[in-house]
Amino acid sequence: MRIAKVLIVDDRPENLLTLESLLEQPGIEVVRANSGEEALGHMLDHDFALILLDVQMPGMDGYEVAELMRGNRKTKHIPIIFVTAEGKGKAQVFKGYESGAVDYLFKPLDAHIFKSKVGVFIDLFHHKVALEQKSLELDQKLVELEELQQQLEQTNEQLLLLSITDGLTGLLNKRQFNANFSHEWKRAYRNKSPLSLIVIDIDYFKAYNDTYGHTKGDECLVQVAQALADTVKRDVDRTARVGGEEFAIILPDTELAGAQHVAERVRDNVELLAIQHKGSPVSEHVTVSVGAASIIPTQKEDTLSLIKAADAALYKAKGDGRNMCCSATLECELGAV
Ligand SMILES: [Mg+2]
Repeated sequence: MRIAKVLIVDDRPENLLTLESLLEQPGIEVVRANSGEEALGHMLDHDFALILLDVQMPGMDGYEVAELMRGNRKTKHIPIIFVTAEGKGKAQVFKGYESGAVDYLFKPLDAHIFKSKVGVFIDLFHHKVALEQKSLELDQKLVELEELQQQLEQTNEQLLLLSITDGLTGLLNKRQFNANFSHEWKRAYRNKSPLSLIVIDIDYFKAYNDTYGHTKGDECLVQVAQALADTVKRDVDRTARVGGEEFAIILPDTELAGAQHVAERVRDNVELLAIQHKGSPVSEHVTVSVGAASIIPTQKEDTLSLIKAADAALYKAKGDGRNMCCSATLECELGAV
């Protein structure tokens, strides 16, 4: 338990001695002052639980000391008991209350009354200290709670990211591709706007894995994915890994000509990576076949038609020799470059 400091103020040493002897008990530390000025000086250095203040003192009297204390932020809540030998007239008592006394004790002091009154204020002080401690603990708990909340939000963000992205390449995963594609389809249907889809397949990827091993195979996938992501510049475009070595790009508000342009840049940028591929019959480097298709949806729930068209274009690009782009409606117009 914290020591309760009690300030006793009296101009007469014998009164200070009396007060001090009455206050002598464990848990109480007495600080003495023999003038108002000295009392105010002590206020700066200590946090008092209680002040026993003589009213009649030469120079600054008890009322003045009390008023000055009440005007100060640090001391205005410290309880004051005036100790006075003055008449017990009401006016005197009121004056004391106006200057901030919370109680009166009259000389000669009755030990029993003195101890019981002082005891009440010491108890109050301990309650106040305990409350302050609880309040501090509560503040600390709040800080911890806020930190936990932040961690939780971060974890949730990470979980969300994990649930929608492909762990290896960081592109959208198949599930999120389906969700986005369905969303864009409905939007295009509502707005009667064109929607394009590009599907990409790495040529002879099984041979690549067989030649260089799966670790290199994964590195190759990451590089190709990065090239796709770098090719697609608009925020609305979505690049996904939809199978082992299969990728797809959703291009909202894009007609076939635009999709063909992106498809060709994709093919070009993958070739520019110049990843050696000894197992490929069509190139020294890793290449991709690309299928593009475009549609202005006329039915609300016919998403498969565009996917099938893009797949068919990809199939044609593969059949025609790979490392090329084909589109569904304009067969192999782009051709191999
Ligand atoms: Mg006096």
